[in-house]
Amino acid sequence: MSGDGDPTFGKDTAHGDNLDVAADLQQKLNDAGLAEVQRRAQPETHPDFDGKHCISCGNEIPKLRLKLNKIRCVYCQEAKERRDRGY
Ligand SMILES: [Zn+2]
Repeated sequence: MSGDGDPTFGKDTAHGDNLDVAADLQQKLNDAGLAEVQRRAQPETHPDFDGKHCISCGNEIPKLRLKLNKIRCVYCQEAKERRDRGY
């Protein structure tokens, strides 16, 4: 395969400033996203949580979810996340 005639456009163009702006913007977005991710990663606690049952509906939470520090069953978690996202 020969890359004959393949235009290597933009290769030597001075676009460093744009890249800096883009990187800065990306960083801002990352910071906001990171805070959100960290907030979500926090193990949730609830005064009514007994360590076994969903705080929303009272159903038993599967052990796998308990290990993930979940305090809601799958259904209530999904419902909550939908609410959090404003759907
Ligand atoms: Zn539930």
